[in-house]
Amino acid sequence: MAVYKNIEDLGALAGKRVLIRADLNVPFQENEAGERMVSDDTRIRSVIPTILKLVEKGAQVMVMSHFGRPKGQVVAQMSLEQLAQPLANALKLPVVFINDCAGDLVQETLDALEEKTILLLENVRFHAGEEANDPEFAAALAANADFYVNEAFSCSHRAHASTEGIAHILPSAAGLSLEAELVALENALGNPKRPLAAVVGGAKVSSKLDVLTNLVEKVDHLIIGGGMANTFLAAQGVNVGASLCEHDLADTARNILAKADEKGCKIHLPTDLVVAKEFKAHATNEIVDLDHVAEDDMILDVGPASTEALSSMLSACKTLIWNGPMGAFEMEPFDAATVFLARSAAKLSDDGSLVTVAGGGDTVAALNHAGAAGSFTHISTAGGAFLEWMEGKELPGVKVLEK
Ligand code: ADP
Ligand code: MG
Repeated sequence: MAVYKNIEDLGALAGKRVLIRADLNVPFQENEAGERMVSDDTRIRSVIPTILKLVEKGAQVMVMSHFGRPKGQVVAQMSLEQLAQPLANALKLPVVFINDCAGDLVQETLDALEEKTILLLENVRFHAGEEANDPEFAAALAANADFYVNEAFSCSHRAHASTEGIAHILPSAAGLSLEAELVALENALGNPKRPLAAVVGGAKVSSKLDVLTNLVEKVDHLIIGGGMANTFLAAQGVNVGASLCEHDLADTARNILAKADEKGCKIHLPTDLVVAKEFKAHATNEIVDLDHVAEDDMILDVGPASTEALSSMLSACKTLIWNGPMGAFEMEPFDAATVFLARSAAKLSDDGSLVTVAGGGDTVAALNHAGAAGSFTHISTAGGAFLEWMEGKELPGVKVLEK
């Protein structure tokens, strides 16, 4: 089991300069007055405890992040300047922004900075060296700091200068949120209490092939739902009518089923289905078994008998990992299986009998929709990094923090 360096491992920090890699790439939306406002501040909030902890230890704190995809160019709309006020509001401390992330300006600003003032640096991706993980650029970032702290799990699947390169140069540690995330993930897949179940749902098998291949080796129960269940059912000879289905992946699906069998992983596919003729909310629908999908039917959700059975199966499990909704949950009533299963998992989690870890953009939305998210043990807000972790890949920005 991997152990990661944390803030305590850095030692005394009074008077030291600490550079934090955050993920301040948050969504903005215009409000009614026409002002651009942060529409989801989750990622800002997640870095606050680490900043405050470092300030409490007497460190001078700098924060760097990317924003958007400027591809090594200065793009005014992608300046980190727009994050200075939101960050200051969340911290209740003053934030000074400067329009570069490396070089003499950083040094000079730090020399003149008042105590308990946070320095926010410009978008690291304005430099081509960031995404190229150029050692010279990593060294330039490192030059103004004594220590490096990574607090951007969502960026850690990329070996960039600010996530990986710099950690080879400076004494480094995982921030508090990153540390918590790594512990939660380790408890879910690295060293889980068993039986361990996974839900993999969503639209397509093709986008989650590596996830499925990795999970059949590690989990005791694999629940396949959503559009991807259609591909597996079709591969087993079920007529899925007009459903979303990747017929060209039939062999792949059969290989995954065979591998699961070999590894002792029980696959759970739906045994009853909710079908409709139209892909829209409140479309006329019926519950059918696997033999009764008509040519013009679309399978839009897992049926109630399967959902009940899955829910009671979960009550005998100790750990659950969830990525991907069970059906087209954005349209009622095709959210039923997702909502029911999410609430079952939430209840078991509240009772303390099930460790529940979930991630994925639509998955988090679905769990919020079900009112279940608050009961989950851990919800990852990282998209790509969470999926790569589910694929069993090593995340370079995390790997470099191993003790
Ligand atoms: P995540 O973002 O959590 O990784 P995905 O993007 O893989 O999840 O999948 C979410 C999408 O899958 C949703 O938009 C949902 O409507 C769609 N989906 C789920 N089940 C079906 C289905 N049976 N038919 C069509 N689309 C589906
Ligand atoms: Mg998605």
